[in-house]
Amino acid sequence: MKIRVGMGYDVHVLEEGRDFFLGGVKVPSMKGAVGHSDADVLIHAICDALLGAANLRDIGFHFANNDSRWKGMDSRFFLQEVMKMLQEKGWKIENVDCTICLEKPKVNPHIDTMKEILAQLMKISEDDVSIKATTSEKLG
Ligand code: MG
Repeated sequence: MKIRVGMGYDVHVLEEGRDFFLGGVKVPSMKGAVGHSDADVLIHAICDALLGAANLRDIGFHFANNDSRWKGMDSRFFLQEVMKMLQEKGWKIENVDCTICLEKPKVNPHIDTMKEILAQLMKISEDDVSIKATTSEKLG
């Protein structure tokens, strides 16, 4: 049995008056992430980790941010598509471990819902989805 590990990383600017999607959850917030799609930074990082583990390039390669098809797209769609790519290559996910770096709002109250949504999308148990939250000590 071959086991592979992948790492994903993503950053988005936050701007006032935008919806804030994180891990498939619309988190109540004064600011939301700026991006071509719904800018769900957590799902984007997970997609990159999975694609990396399977050596399938990265999320921007498959879903370019200048392609009008992905404008405003719900990022859960990207994760579903990545799951299909993994399946085609015969991979399955054992576990996912994530860290969200964010000053505001607090994400802890939403982590259980994110785990539920992400576990369902990745067809794994909620116990195999870890989401940790930290700040960047007011760096931004
Ligand atoms: Mg992104």
